Amino acid sequence: MNAIDFSALPVYTNAEVVVCGGGTAGAFAAIASAREGRDTLLIEQFGSLGGTATNGLVTPLMSTHIEGNPQSSYLFFELQNKLRALGASNERGNLFDPMLLKYALEQLCVEAGVRLLYHTFVPEVIKDGDKIVSVVIANKAGLSLVKGEIFIDATGDGDVAVRAGASYNKGNPETGMNQPMSLRYIIDGIDMHALGAFFASEAERTGVSKNASVWADGWEMYADCCRGSNVTLTKVFEEAIEAGDLTVEDHIYWQVFAMPGRYGSLAFNCPEFFANIDGTNPEDLSISQVKGKQAIVRQLAFYKKYMKGFEKAYIAEIAPMVGVRESREIVTDHVLTAEDILGKRKHPDMIAQSNYPIDIHGKQLTNRYLVEPADDGKPWYEIPFRSLIVKGIDNLLVVGRCIGAEFIAEASVRIQPTARSTGEAAGIGAALAIAGGKSIREIDGADVRGIMVKKGAQFA
Ligand SMILES: Cc1cc2nc3c(=O)[nH]c(=O)nc-3n(C[C@H](O)[C@H](O)[C@H](O)COP(=O)(O)OP(=O)(O)OC[C@H]3O[C@@H](n4cnc5c(N)ncnc54)[C@H](O)[C@@H]3O)c2cc1C
Repeated sequence: MNAIDFSALPVYTNAEVVVCGGGTAGAFAAIASAREGRDTLLIEQFGSLGGTATNGLVTPLMSTHIEGNPQSSYLFFELQNKLRALGASNERGNLFDPMLLKYALEQLCVEAGVRLLYHTFVPEVIKDGDKIVSVVIANKAGLSLVKGEIFIDATGDGDVAVRAGASYNKGNPETGMNQPMSLRYIIDGIDMHALGAFFASEAERTGVSKNASVWADGWEMYADCCRGSNVTLTKVFEEAIEAGDLTVEDHIYWQVFAMPGRYGSLAFNCPEFFANIDGTNPEDLSISQVKGKQAIVRQLAFYKKYMKGFEKAYIAEIAPMVGVRESREIVTDHVLTAEDILGKRKHPDMIAQSNYPIDIHGKQLTNRYLVEPADDGKPWYEIPFRSLIVKGIDNLLVVGRCIGAEFIAEASVRIQPTARSTGEAAGIGAALAIAGGKSIREIDGADVRGIMVKKGAQFA
């Protein structure tokens, strides 16, 4: 088959900074770049921002587990204030309403002057030597080109970097398997008091009072029941499996969170798929949608039959986007290793800090990765700016869950607060490069961090 000559396509638009993908990291990158005065275009395949956090219905924010909860992002606080004003975040800031997060991110983009190009997919790039000159876009206007000076790959899967010829890691090196994906959902119409009373009665029936609670007059709630743990809901799950009303997979990973401002509404962190499936394989993504909906309908029937409070409950939302925990990790100038994370390594050009554990679903951490944690009195690791610069390409940064990391390291860096930090740093770094007429490799991460701090970011 002859190669297609995309360079003959019409130019749709050009921008100084072109951000591909409007998830957490992409939105933060675009806002940060526009705030530094650069003409910034954000291209997103769906009609809203937030990606996994919104269209994947992934709430809440995990904590970076650093004492005092510092946030290596100034935009973190602006977003938090916006969400609070909307009644869509709790005081601590970890619980949020995914629907209003879409709105808040979009407003921050609009206010910063980011040009949003929704319903547009990036399938290909055009290069000149080691530089990307444009990305190909596909949308209702057909195929065309977007030219740019610096490109930021925020697709979560490293689509742009891979099309540009970057190398990548993918999946567990021991098994070849990616982390499991999940199709998340929200149920509305729940009587939270009745559900709380059910949890209490189960605790009494089973003698186990663990991981099922409702508080703040029914506004806040958390429960989990993962196979192998002995918690309040274990017995009712086992009874439902025994009766054929649930599958064993339904029980392997089940978790539920309340969302501020949404009384009677719960977000479920399940169903999870444990077969060898791949978030960059269109067939696997399609099958996950079909199997996921079957599981969600089955799970609602289980709540109605076995629990209290679900009598008038209904499925409010099934994520349009399958939740992908891990797919490709792009090879960058510094690839984060298990030793970097567990050894709590520090870097002079660091732009993010975290102490979030290695969080691998579906598989236990093997001994090979258990390195002795460093004890320098600073229990966190750092992400250098170099982990965002795509190796072998002159003008491409990568942000979010697909930054340069080994499989094990990605299992820690993938959380939303870290995606926010990497996005913000990339946006500032791209702006600095353009302002100074420099290549992205000439930008010192310490200077990027300096701007983040000046604007309100916190580092431990
Ligand atoms: C089931 C699940 C549970 C999780 N639980 C938590 C949790 O409780 N707390 C936490 O902090 N983190 C959690 N995480 C991790 C975290 O939510 C994600 O790793 C993070 O949100 C990823 O952000 P991102 O910006 O890198 O990618 P994404 O949010 O995936 O954004 C990528 C964006 O790019 C768009 N896109 C992709 N390809 C293209 C293309 N070629 N062209 C145009 N647009 C494109 C997508 O539509 C999307 O909007 C969880 C993840 C999953 C999957």
